Amino acid sequence: MAGNWRKNVREIAPYVPGEQSKDADLIKLNANENPYPPSPKVQEVFRSFDAAALRRYPDANSTELRHTLAEHFGVGDNQVFLGNGSDDVLALCFQTFFCSDEPILFPDVTYSFYPVWCSLFRIPFRKVPLTADYRIDPQDYAVQNGGVILPNPNAPTGIGEGLEFVETLLQNNPDSIVIIDEAYIDFGGTSCLPLLEKYENLVVVQTMSKSRSLAGMRVGYAIASPELIAALEAVKNSYNSYTMDMLTLDAATASVKDDAYFREICARVIQTRERSAQTFREMGFTVLPSQTNFLLVTHPEKSAKELFEKLRAQKIFVRYFNQPRVDNHLRVTIGTDDEMDKLFEALRNIM
Ligand code: PMP
Repeated sequence: MAGNWRKNVREIAPYVPGEQSKDADLIKLNANENPYPPSPKVQEVFRSFDAAALRRYPDANSTELRHTLAEHFGVGDNQVFLGNGSDDVLALCFQTFFCSDEPILFPDVTYSFYPVWCSLFRIPFRKVPLTADYRIDPQDYAVQNGGVILPNPNAPTGIGEGLEFVETLLQNNPDSIVIIDEAYIDFGGTSCLPLLEKYENLVVVQTMSKSRSLAGMRVGYAIASPELIAALEAVKNSYNSYTMDMLTLDAATASVKDDAYFREICARVIQTRERSAQTFREMGFTVLPSQTNFLLVTHPEKSAKELFEKLRAQKIFVRYFNQPRVDNHLRVTIGTDDEMDKLFEALRNIM
């Protein structure tokens, strides 16, 4: 007998991440991953880990990693919240902090997961257009709202704003929670962490996926006032207390403790980015100024979609967004110098 149960199944258009592949000769510049391995200290954790430990549950409070991060950033242990990648942390932030009937605000060109979480959690939202030069104007956010979220630097534009920008945003929004997604902050951006002392409604979210080369481990964190962190903990502990596994906690702790390696890798990526931006410009591309590990580029005479497809046929993956305002752009993750040289060689051949 045919039933009517389908009406009770959630229908949602999910976020689509950059394509993954196991092909070893692929040049993968499509998911903003780091081309360099994580700190050798992370490898040491794997080598010395005893599988017998896995019979126990992990530390639900992530005590050691939380403390290591708190020390690293000069905040209290009760100001740090950990999650299974910053996507997990952000999803929890949406559930915890965006509970108003007023729409939350974010840019029209930004991380495309935000509208998906709004749809999943039934949060009303309004997209605020970027300016003509792809910047965010904080005055556009000086209107009644149910919360504000934006990445700084923004993605996929790569453009970063300074401390004054975030402070204006906060001054315009004393009655809202303001979340700054700093996924790409370590590649030359200015973190707004110093503003936490002054603004209790600020939440800063960062990830170990990009600058710490740990995308495969899934570690993200939020830093905020103890009151907001307690609210996040309560929501997390209402559906899954153990988001972080034992091995991940140890590996992430080792990574944070190796600051010298971290700085060296970030500097290398930045250097390659500047060199690559210059090469793109010499080839006639317009390049948005980037403070991230990717470049958003467009060519006045060439179709981005066609370039994307031709590169793909040569096993070079970059990211193409079929979305208004960026649908003739390519987002190119910064690889090693060698990978970038191969990209430019391929581009010269197909253009
Ligand atoms: N925020 C932004 C702006 C991103 O681009 C990404 C990467 N897709 C994330 C958050 C999530 O990264 P992760 O879950 O790997 O920490």
